[in-house]
Amino acid sequence: RGSGTLSVIVRPYGDGLRLVLSQDVTERERAEAMRRDFVANVSHEIRTPLTVLSGFIETMSSLPLSEPERRRVLTLMGQQTERMLSLVSDLLTLAQLEGSPRPGSDRWIGLGPLFLRLGTDAKALSNGRHQLKIGEVGALELAGVETELISAISNLLSNAVRYTPEGGEIELNWRLAADGHGEISVTDTGPGIAREHLPRLTERFYRVDGSRNRETGGTGLGLSIVKHVMQRHGGELQVQSEVGQGSRFTLLLPPTRVRQAAP
Ligand code: ADP
Repeated sequence: RGSGTLSVIVRPYGDGLRLVLSQDVTERERAEAMRRDFVANVSHEIRTPLTVLSGFIETMSSLPLSEPERRRVLTLMGQQTERMLSLVSDLLTLAQLEGSPRPGSDRWIGLGPLFLRLGTDAKALSNGRHQLKIGEVGALELAGVETELISAISNLLSNAVRYTPEGGEIELNWRLAADGHGEISVTDTGPGIAREHLPRLTERFYRVDGSRNRETGGTGLGLSIVKHVMQRHGGELQVQSEVGQGSRFTLLLPPTRVRQAAP
């Protein structure tokens, strides 16, 4: 089971030989360490909002609060609850993405309506703080699981909105490459990401600046979800980023999953 290697080792034993079956221990240990880390991270991420909530409950039950104070505490409690809900929802998405794809769930999806919908969601999230540009999509279609592709693109857009300071530009675009593969990109003029962080961005709970990014409402699972969606579609996620200039996240889809719709 798993990706470990099973080796047969022949060793002298008494007057004869003994066959020893040995699984690649390092691989197994690494998988086990990753599982332990994951459980520890999830526990920590859930315990933090719960601790805050429990503090607020204590305050509300032991102190007489004015109406504005009571409202303020309820707002803060609501934010912590939202944070836990997003976390649980991202965990469920990841668990589903790690299972086998449901047979027959792929279909051809028009990029036009998809971009329209994602653009509207991003506008609502940005709330006028950024300049949003959505590329012309023409009649391009993608083959895949619609909910998964939406989740991948909207994770990239919500990151761009969250990390790009007010007044910045965010662009959702696509390109059909000469060799027939499709590219969907989200470009921002945000803070950018230093080179040493790039290889680790899709690790679960990896954040460039842990505490600051947690405050922006991210679960730390977004790019891990994007990577899984791309793997299931035979594609990949590419990141180009320059500190102080901005970032571009590109989803690459194989030619078999991209076509121009009949006019
Ligand atoms: P999070 O929920 O923390 O955003 P992600 O997996 O989506 O988690 O992203 C991982 C980290 O990558 C983020 O915490 C952030 O540090 C960095 N990141 C992602 N997108 C951007 C972006 N558009 N600009 C700058 N940093 C980004």
